[in-house]
Amino acid sequence: MGRYYQPEIETAPRERILEIQNEKIVKQVRHVYENVPYYRHLMEEKGVTPDDIKGVEDIKKLPFLSKADLRDAYPYGLLGTDLKNCVRIQSTSGTTGRRVVAFYTQKDIELWEDCCARAIVAAGGTDEDVCQVCYGYGLFTGGPGLNGGSHKVGCLTLPMSSGNTDRQIQFMMDLGATILCCTPSYAAYIGESLAEKGYKPEDNKLKAGIFGAEPWTEEMRRNIEKSLGIKAYDIYGLTETSGPGVAFECEEQHGMHINEDHFYAEIIDPDTGEVLPDGEKGELVFTSLDKEAFPLLRYRTRDICVLHREKCSCGRTHVKMSKPMGRSDDMLIIRGVNVFPSQIETVLLNEGYTPNYQILVDRRNNTDTLDINVELPPEQFSDIVSENQAKERALEAAMRNMLGIGPKVHLVGPKSIVRSEGKAVRVIDNRKLHD
Ligand code: ADP
Ligand code: ZN
Repeated sequence: MGRYYQPEIETAPRERILEIQNEKIVKQVRHVYENVPYYRHLMEEKGVTPDDIKGVEDIKKLPFLSKADLRDAYPYGLLGTDLKNCVRIQSTSGTTGRRVVAFYTQKDIELWEDCCARAIVAAGGTDEDVCQVCYGYGLFTGGPGLNGGSHKVGCLTLPMSSGNTDRQIQFMMDLGATILCCTPSYAAYIGESLAEKGYKPEDNKLKAGIFGAEPWTEEMRRNIEKSLGIKAYDIYGLTETSGPGVAFECEEQHGMHINEDHFYAEIIDPDTGEVLPDGEKGELVFTSLDKEAFPLLRYRTRDICVLHREKCSCGRTHVKMSKPMGRSDDMLIIRGVNVFPSQIETVLLNEGYTPNYQILVDRRNNTDTLDINVELPPEQFSDIVSENQAKERALEAAMRNMLGIGPKVHLVGPKSIVRSEGKAVRVIDNRKLHD
């Protein structure tokens, strides 16, 4: 028996999944057309009516929704049901501008928690496990989502929320946590703190971690797996579609299965809006097939990734998305070259540094500058200036190879870069100050 929470749907034949999607989309488009005037107007502008949508094949006829629409319609403009049927709101982290609020009926929450339960079971979770949730609780979806999923699986749930790392470690050790849920940057910090307290990876009872809410590289995965002695699984989601659990990794640890019975995924060219075939990189767009309270159709996530439909060894039949490289708006354009922070992380970890770094972008004399502060691990710390300079030059060369442009690297002392307990802020782009 595989590690499935809802095997009949997670391993359903493709024709069955398509059947479910076709049935749901017809109903959902009608629901939105009748209940969300904001979207009805967009459909009218495009000359589409619910009669034109006979299955998921027709989704491409529908207009897109963007984050700007969500801000325009704030707070109630995209509500799909009476407010009295809603039982909860959650909100985005507000990483880019005004926060977006999303609404949930009790059924929406049930389905969201099912998705998180699928992720926990895929990571090996059962009712024997102790699941420590240190994503933030509150408006952020991370804590509540995994908390609900953990209850559904029947794990003993530790609702820690983020922060207070000493207490996290004490509870982890005293109560024998076996599954850890948090952002990858916080997981790395917890690993570092455990080592500082003299614990070895085998001293804790953890077996798996479910990490997401921010981009992280394969190198970061290996770093966390080593420091905590676990298997680290990726989980993806966004407030607009529910929260974490839209997609999750299975034991293959190679791409995340999208919960296709609830979310229909497309990849588009971010410039033209054209739908791209599987295997091509582009912007991920989601249509929620059964959300009642906040039923977004063709929502542009701005996350850049690739969809794959090859058979997975875990037995799941749902499409997989690659790790998002970051959002289209995380991409830095420096002297005309596209740079993703994740590329910088890859170089640093490959060169034996820790994931503690900060990227500073500015413009001086009309030229973009890229500076990277990199923390030296304590064992590499040296007082000898020439040694540090040689390391800086070596890192600069490795970066130039990866990025195609040369940054300036500054090695800084252990502990000088602030640790993240939630979503890490890696980039400071001061060019915006001058614009
Ligand atoms: P905000 O947009 O304010 O950060 P959310 O808390 O809803 O609000 O975050 C959702 C976003 O977080 C996604 O659109 C994506 O950019 C990022 N994200 C979530 N999970 C992952 C993941 N596993 N890998 C990379 N990025 C992720
Ligand atoms: Zn799989």
